[in-house]
Formats: sequence, structure tokens, C-alpha cells
Amino acid sequence: MKITEVRLGMLRVPLKTPFKTALRTVDTVEDIVVSIHTDTGNVGYGEAPATAVITGDTHGSIIEVIRRLIGPRLIGMEVADLNAILQLIHGCAERNTSAKAAVEIAIYDLWAQLYGAPLYRMLGGGDPAITTDLTISVDYIDKMVADSLSAVERGFESLKIKVGKEINVDLERVKAIYAAVEGRALLRLDANQGWTAKQAVYAIRTLEDAGVQLELVEQPVKARDIAGLKFVTERVHTPIMADESVFGPSEVIELLRQQAADIINIKLMKTGGISNAIRVADIAALYDVECMIGCMIETSISVAAAVHLAVAKSNIIRKVDLDGPSLCAFDPVDGGVDFNESEISISDAPGLGIREIRGLEPLAP
Ligand code: MG
Repeated sequence: MKITEVRLGMLRVPLKTPFKTALRTVDTVEDIVVSIHTDTGNVGYGEAPATAVITGDTHGSIIEVIRRLIGPRLIGMEVADLNAILQLIHGCAERNTSAKAAVEIAIYDLWAQLYGAPLYRMLGGGDPAITTDLTISVDYIDKMVADSLSAVERGFESLKIKVGKEINVDLERVKAIYAAVEGRALLRLDANQGWTAKQAVYAIRTLEDAGVQLELVEQPVKARDIAGLKFVTERVHTPIMADESVFGPSEVIELLRQQAADIINIKLMKTGGISNAIRVADIAALYDVECMIGCMIETSISVAAAVHLAVAKSNIIRKVDLDGPSLCAFDPVDGGVDFNESEISISDAPGLGIREIRGLEPLAP
């Protein structure tokens, strides 16, 4: 199976409700889709969103890196030479993790197709069914409580509450949601860097003292503030998870050595794809630190890859935050991973099993 062509497209899907965090508001998925074609007729698919405030990647940078740097070098390569291809992808440019992730996902899709197996089996196997939480966007308290109750009605047993705007309102938000869903759903808070270390300790201790039990608090402080993250982790009982603070394996090693967080959030768009996500999971397992698998505002192309990884690494990836497809107004992908609200399952189709992507707008080569 030889690579013959790399194509790019734009996929737009409206969200059911606007996605609001301390960093940004998004109401439509607008992701770059890469399709890698081969001489056997097999096609592999990958996807990347623009997340300038997190990874620095924009549509323009993703397109440029794939079109000019990675794509041309892949032509003629054998999909079976997976490691050589991965080296090439990561050697072509510093950072640009989203572009690399999109290409890696398509390559892994083809690699598993080559051997006729679903990707998770090629990554070591596992039970092909997982359960995800749902994100509750930051908003007026009443709206957040209503959204949380409707998520519980839809069967979600874990809710990820976005906070980090204004600390005392955040505390009221969380208490109100906790009172409304207590006993029916676990709460995860994501502050998206919205607090200082001292504010975070104050907020989390206040909630602990009020009897609000949280499963975890994610990224309370600025991404670069590892000392602040450690400060918080040391001073509260609630587990603290690092998200924007850690991208790839070397940052994870550093963070774990410093014991600056209790949990690591792995996202393919931060690691630059599957190969480094596997490394991060394995490093965390060495330290006996559990991981969550998350996603950006992505559809069921790149999220499918994250599902396959989560299944294969379920020994250490024990928390799942792959609600991208559930946030979309419809699923544009006819594929091997079924997203049914909180329940996600994988079919026996080879690779990612993607048969069709509806509404994909081709980008000029
Ligand atoms: Mg996060």
C-alpha cells in the first residue's frame, strides 16, 4: 500500500449549543480534514481544528504545513513503513501539533486497514466500548443548571463544568449544579487557566468545605504556571488535572517528576497524534498517574482515533472526555465508531472504518 495523494478539505458542522470556556466561544465546528489516498484504493482520514489559544494552530498554518511540508514527502511511501512515516511527520516542522495529528490519524487509519483490523486491535486490543462525559459551557447559573439536568436526562453520568470566569460566581455555579444533580452525575471542573494559584486553592477548598465532591479540577492556572499548578495540587484534596500545561512526552515527564498534577489530560491535537499520545500514556503508567483522553471541538473523524487509543490504553486512560461528536448538531461521518450520547462503541471495520464524510468541502491542492 503506497501513498499516492494527500487531499485537504474543510468540514463545517454547527454545534447544538455554543461551546463557551474561560478562553473562547465556538458555535460551529470548522475543521481541516486530510484524506490520504493509496495505490490500493484505500483512503485514510484525519482531522484537525484551529485552536489558536491552546496549540497556536490556525486553519492557515494547518493547511500550509500539510500542503507544503508533510504531504509532498509522504508521496510514494509504503504505509507498512509506519515508523519512518511518523519520523518524517515529526521532523518536518517544530510544534504544529494539530497538523501533525491530522496526518498521523490518517496514516494510522491506513496502517490498520493494511492489516485488516480495527485500529484499537493494532494498538494492543481492549474492550471496544467506552463512556464519555459531556461539557456544560460556562453561562448564567440557571442555564448551566438546566443544561446539566438535561445532560443527566440524556444519560450522561459525568459532567464537565466549564468555570474560570469570575470566582465567586463560579462557586455559586458549581454549588447549584451539584445540588441539582447530586448522586446522579459526577462533576469535573475545567477552569481553562482562569484562576491564579491562590484563587484556585480558595475556590476548591471552599467547595470541599461546602461538601461539594468533585471528581477533579482541570487546569486551574495558566498553562505555563507549573509552579502554580503544583501549589494547588499540594494544597487541596480534590485531584488536579493538567491539560494546557502538558502537550507531549517530555513535558509530561517534567510535570510528573515535579508531582505538579494528579491526572494528565491527553489530547491528540496537543501530542501531535497517536504515537506521542501512546508515549504519554506509557510514561503516566510508569508513574502510576492516571490519564483522561480529551478532544478539542472535533467531529467523529479525529475523535474516533482518540476512542481507539483510549480502548487500547484503558489500563491508564481511565477517564474519557470525548464529547465533540455529542456537541455537534449532526454526525457528518458514516464510520466505524458509533457515538450514541455517553456510549461510544467501535465496530470490526478495519482502521477507523470511515465510509463517508458528508458535506466535506474540498480545498484546492
Ligand atoms: Mg481542558
